[in-house]
Amino acid sequence: MHLPAPLRARLIAHARAEVPCECVGLLGGHDRPGVGSDVRAMYPLRNAAPDPQRTYIADPGHVLRALKAMRAEGLDLVGIYHSHPRGPAVPSRTDVQLAAYGVPYLIVDVQREDVRAYRLPELTEEPLLS
Ligand SMILES: [Zn+2]
Repeated sequence: MHLPAPLRARLIAHARAEVPCECVGLLGGHDRPGVGSDVRAMYPLRNAAPDPQRTYIADPGHVLRALKAMRAEGLDLVGIYHSHPRGPAVPSRTDVQLAAYGVPYLIVDVQREDVRAYRLPELTEEPLLS
């Protein structure tokens, strides 16, 4: 999947702004079968988890609004991101259990400013190109 450097920087900035909590948001772009997706826009969401320092849950109303905005811009849902304020950029057991969409899950390691993408629940890492 292709994540342009400016968007990667904005993902890290969102993650830093939410410390000590985890951030969450959607990624819109173009899905190109066989080639991977192109990320074009990010949609930061509110972390509505009861324990936002340890997990993330996107507010359902905000998810709907973001999906509508994405569609209005002619983009598809190509990824979901959240952060691990203390790292690492590896899915937790909860991340795997809660994964419900067939798109890559991106994780920002705030400590190391690292971003990685995974297919869940398979846990296969997806290369992130800039
Ligand atoms: Zn996580």
